Formats: sequence, structure tokens, C-alpha cells
Amino acid sequence: MREPLIAGNWKMNCTIDAAVELVTSVRESLGSVTGVEVVVCPPFVALHSVSNVLKETQIRVGAQDVFYEDAGAFTGEISPPMLSDLCHYVIVGHSERRKWFGETGELVAKKVAAARRHGLVPILCVGESLEENMAGRTEQVLTHQLRGALESSTPFKELVVAYEPIWAIGTGRPALPDDVNQTARAIRGMIGRLWDMGSARELRILYGGSVDSENVVAFVSLSDIDGALVGGASLRAPEFAEIVFRTASAEKKRSSG
Ligand code: PEP
Repeated sequence: MREPLIAGNWKMNCTIDAAVELVTSVRESLGSVTGVEVVVCPPFVALHSVSNVLKETQIRVGAQDVFYEDAGAFTGEISPPMLSDLCHYVIVGHSERRKWFGETGELVAKKVAAARRHGLVPILCVGESLEENMAGRTEQVLTHQLRGALESSTPFKELVVAYEPIWAIGTGRPALPDDVNQTARAIRGMIGRLWDMGSARELRILYGGSVDSENVVAFVSLSDIDGALVGGASLRAPEFAEIVFRTASAEKKRSSG
């Protein structure tokens, strides 16, 4: 019922020319794959060129961040109305933004609300640090992050949550699939308590953290995981396409079995 979603977060990589080259190659590698929603999230400056390359394809575009005001004296920021013609999705609350730019739960909540007001679908990132994980505080941390971001919002089933344990991002050491499923189920329960269980059951939860074509099936086959947010591996078109293909065939197996 929940269509799998594979999103590539290109982070601060690619000039405009390099982004066009990468997305053209992604488009050609993917051909007309079905059964998986595919999203690429290039840097702001490349959004326009990338969305031009993806015109008349099913591949969607996402931004990597957004500010919460519509316009005004906020030097350097990008507002939701600036993005809404270019993107369908926007990543909000990525751990790198929380870490390097001091984003708080309050700020993330404002960004989620602003994105939504302008028809952008947030991919809300949550995840615990290694220390929090080792101390058995994962669920406490996630509850705090989800409450911060979603408590003041009315339910919307389009929301995408990306569970990204910080210690698994960019390390080549993904979390264990069983642990990921247990945490994703807990996330659904937390959102169910904040909103309602019906909405929580409908929204998609992605796993992110060192996903590649070798391990993606172990994650997308989990009952509470609906796809992946892919960082490093999304910068290589053949590898990203392979992640999508393997997700599509895992989904086919799941729906026929
Ligand atoms: C990310 O930054 O969202 C991410 C999951 O990165 P990587 O796939 O490189 O671990």
C-alpha cells in the first residue's frame, strides 16, 4: 500500500554542470522503472537545471533544506515559495544541519509547517548519536525529535520520515536491519500517539545510513521500512539505479508473496 521511495541526497556536491551530468545519467540508467518513487535532492543552485532534465519523467526533485519565512531580510536563505515550483520534496532536520548549523526541534517544526503550507512534502530526518544509542536512549531521543517537529502540526499522511542513526551516516557501517525495523515500528507508534494510528500507518518511513546496492534489499524488505534516503551512493548513477532496481524487485516479491 505504501509505495517504496528511494531518495538521493547529493549534499554539498556537484556544480550545476556536474549535477546536470549526474541527473542525465540517472535518468538514462533508470529508464522506465516502475513500482518505486525516485527522488533526487541536488544543491539549491542546481534545482532548476535538474528539474529541466527530469521534465516528462517520473523522477521527482527535492531540496535539501528550506527556511520558514516566505520572504524578507534573511540573507542567504531560501523560502518555500521559491522552491514550490521546482520541487516536490524537501529534506528537513538532517543530522548534518542539526550538528553544523545548530538546528533545534523548534526550528525544524517551523520548517515542516512552512514547507507544508506551500505544498512541499517534508522528508523529516530523525536519528540518534552513537552515545545515545549505546546508552539505550534511542527511543527517548526520537520521541523528543518527533514531538518537536510534529506536535503542533495536524496529521498529514504525505509526510516522509527518514530514520537515520547518525553513527551509520557516511561510515560504511549501516545499522542492523532488525534493529531498524524495531525502531521504525516505534517511530510509527510515536507518530500514532502524537496524531492518530491511521495517519501513522499510511506515512512512509525510510532508512538512511550507508545504504548501497548490496544492502538495500535487507532494509526495503522490512515490514515498517518503505525505502531509503541515500547519501554517498546517490552520487554514482549506476549504483543509485541499481539501488532503485533492487528495491523494485524486492517490492514485486513482497506484493506477490
Ligand atoms: C544521508 O546523509 O542522509 C545519508 C544517509 O548518507 P550516506 O548514505 O552516505 O550514509
